[in-house]
Amino acid sequence: MQKKHIAVIGSTGSIGTQTLDIVAQRPEKFAISVLAAGSNVELLIKQSLTHRPALAIIADESKYKILKEALEPAGIATAAGAGALADAMEREDFSTVVTATVGYSGLEPTIRAIRAGKDIALANKETLVVAGELITRLLSTSPSSILPVDSEHSAIYQCLVGEDPATVDRLIITASGGPFRTHSAERLARVTVADALKHPNWNMGNKITIDSATMLNKAFEIIEARWLFGIPAQRIEAVVHPQSIIHSMVQFCDGAVKAQLGLPDMHLPIRYALGDGMRIDAPERRLTIADYSSLTFEKPDTERFPCLGLAYRALDEGGTTACTVNAANEIAVAAFLRGEISFLDIYRVIEATLGTTGFIAKPGYEDYVAVNTEARSKAQETIKKIII
Ligand code: NDP
Ligand code: MG
Repeated sequence: MQKKHIAVIGSTGSIGTQTLDIVAQRPEKFAISVLAAGSNVELLIKQSLTHRPALAIIADESKYKILKEALEPAGIATAAGAGALADAMEREDFSTVVTATVGYSGLEPTIRAIRAGKDIALANKETLVVAGELITRLLSTSPSSILPVDSEHSAIYQCLVGEDPATVDRLIITASGGPFRTHSAERLARVTVADALKHPNWNMGNKITIDSATMLNKAFEIIEARWLFGIPAQRIEAVVHPQSIIHSMVQFCDGAVKAQLGLPDMHLPIRYALGDGMRIDAPERRLTIADYSSLTFEKPDTERFPCLGLAYRALDEGGTTACTVNAANEIAVAAFLRGEISFLDIYRVIEATLGTTGFIAKPGYEDYVAVNTEARSKAQETIKKIII
């Protein structure tokens, strides 16, 4: 494998820092050309001095002076703002971008990277949730390829190697069930932010941890799988598997089921995506299957976790429905994390926003931008009513 030059957007987060671990382990295989973060300027400076990118970008422009003063004497160019981040996707000094930013902010840079012919190691699932149809269309006329970082989609990708896509019957996406898997509806009404941030198996950023607790994360993964693998929603199902050892499965037309197993550790899918599906030696602790006397499975409960059902509604309606769900959820999760609304209000805010935001059946990029803005403001209005 030729040495691969990489841009990491969202380098200071959970996926971003694990990506940099892998790069540091294999300097003969990987080098960093661009690093970009949201607002954690201290960590971005530290990462830049270690990995020596040509360019470091901070989205939060108020932190630009600190970044520039720290890095320019070291010969590292700096920039600030969402526009600079998107522009950087057209640079010629890297071939692959790891999209590890959180939320809607991943959409524009990913589109720009595909237009510039970059390969995408996709962690930012919200990009495919918001605009999966547009991204798929852009990919069909671009030399870019997309490799999933999300563990479930990496598992499915690995199960599909060597198989004829026409023989796939179903995709079976596993879900841990989150911290509230066994909670009654009454208990769910009283959970705190601290409870929701305690994921049983995975250590992730706050937003995806809350999405896992509501199971909207699983709905997003069903939408993500629909666009990545071109399988209709009726043939994608979620199954609760509390141990998070089987990362997902594929069932074929002869009834055979293939699964990919491993410890819940994102280094594996990140490394697999960076290696273009080639396997690279890993130093992390690995799975010893005999340590597990049982792996268990349950049907998900969409009564207690109604967010899960939003995947099928969004895929059935198409257009901008999933964009609205994503926008409302981002606003609702932020309000929940600030202690302004309850855990069960997250679904209520999404539902109310879907009822009040305009729908566009065949959206272009500008339509997604407009619907995202409208849905955020409608979600804010609903939250204000809940607070009063
Ligand atoms: P984190 O919250 O840990 O990290 C998010 C990163 O994005 C940080 O570097 C943050 O910068 C940066 N960021 C936030 N807002 C912006 C912005 N407006 N512009 C540029 N950068 C921004 O999230 P995770 O790493 O957990 O998740 C990242 C993505 O990967 C999400 O889409 C998530 O769904 C997906 N994912 C994550 C998994 C995990 O195990 N963590 C597993 C599967 C998918 P800063 O901190 O400096 O503000
Ligand atoms: Mg996942």
